[in-house]
Amino acid sequence: MSVDVIVGLQRGDEGKGRFVDMLAGEHDIVARFNGGDNAGHTVVLPDGRDLALHLVPSGITHPATMNVIGNGTLVNASKLVAEIAAIQTKDIEVNKRNLMLSSAAHLILPHHIYDDKIRETGSGRQGSTKSGIAQVASQKAMRAGARVELINDNPEDLLTLVYESLVAQRRMRDEAEIEPINEMAVAKEYLENAQRLGSFVTDTVLYLNQQLRAEQPARVLAEGAQAFWLDIDHGMYPFTTSSSTTSGGACTGLGIAPAFIDRITGIAKAVPSHVGGGPFVTEITDGEQLQRLHGDMTTIDAEKGTTTGRVRRLGHLDLPQIRRSQLVNGVDGKQEMALTKLDWVHRYGDAAKICVAYMLEGKRIEIAPDAAYKLELVTPVYESLPTWQEDIQGVRQFADLPKAAQEYVSFIETMTEVPITLIGVGPRRDQVIIRGSL
Ligand code: GDP
Repeated sequence: MSVDVIVGLQRGDEGKGRFVDMLAGEHDIVARFNGGDNAGHTVVLPDGRDLALHLVPSGITHPATMNVIGNGTLVNASKLVAEIAAIQTKDIEVNKRNLMLSSAAHLILPHHIYDDKIRETGSGRQGSTKSGIAQVASQKAMRAGARVELINDNPEDLLTLVYESLVAQRRMRDEAEIEPINEMAVAKEYLENAQRLGSFVTDTVLYLNQQLRAEQPARVLAEGAQAFWLDIDHGMYPFTTSSSTTSGGACTGLGIAPAFIDRITGIAKAVPSHVGGGPFVTEITDGEQLQRLHGDMTTIDAEKGTTTGRVRRLGHLDLPQIRRSQLVNGVDGKQEMALTKLDWVHRYGDAAKICVAYMLEGKRIEIAPDAAYKLELVTPVYESLPTWQEDIQGVRQFADLPKAAQEYVSFIETMTEVPITLIGVGPRRDQVIIRGSL
């Protein structure tokens, strides 16, 4: 068994990127299995500069690591070209020796993005990132999508498809008062960008399986974007994304068998956040507390989106939601959890409230229900834990944490029945407490 999976247990932005970045050095391959450029990770490079990643796996900062954009992802060729260029400006090499793009991934085309914009201007708006994700996913399901393989195998068809789709959409764009475009110019520009990716295109399913079955099997780190509550099947439907964000999604999104999965690390953030619409049982609305929890917007760890810059909704830690994520992801006592932003818990004030259960129609439940409208019906049951005021960003040993911080972590372990093996105490690569074997 040689695949380790990292997944978010909440609603995204848990800080998965920094752990993938940290663990990448111990793996031969880092592979993204879901989502598109709507996701965003921020990693801090050893020299202190930060790097925003959207579709490129976080292993790209490690020279000896191969990075795979798997078949389960959704790829906007123009955005990917721009992302690669931005990475290269930080003197990080990106070429076919360290990046592969699955030929079976689906291409997000310009008309998908316009469709997304049109929908967001109308009554069906869902707070989408306007990346065309839902549009390309629905075309994939309708077997009418364009896969990455077209880039090298049939570029003329790709050009025609982009152009004709834009022309067919023209009336809808006009009605939504979107600036007129030259469809052929847009299509040609997209194809040009797509062709810049030609050398990365590979049958990554075959590659990964060969590497996993080699005499010296490769160690693969499967990197999930977004998080459990945004999963299309298991999240708070309809406020979800369009792909699988669970550990099971790693198998379909990379084409690997479940038996290869060794370790599953679920990431939870001590200060849960959410971007966009949908229920948020433990949401904080108090302005003063919110301001403290958002942080200084000029810093890397402020609570605003990496991709959109949108300020995040914030709340108290919600264990019923984490427990449901654990069930479906298999993050049980044999696996492990990573907790980020322990260094922010003091921002709640003298005490941090933790939601330990819900009340639903007069009954106490420990595990959150599975749909948005059901989450609207519950009320949180809180316990309060004392916080601490010491700065813990320099702490590297669990035993050196203030007692209240140790008790806070132990409380979550007890309530979720899973060991917390990694604790983030700051955004930098080294600002982590490692407990156990990692
Ligand atoms: P991801 O999409 O799950 O990787 O999360 P993001 O990268 O969008 O958001 C996490 C943000 O929090 C990034 O700016 C990280 O550098 C930062 N971060 C991650 N872990 C910690 C932590 O333990 N403490 C602090 N202060 N910041 C953290």
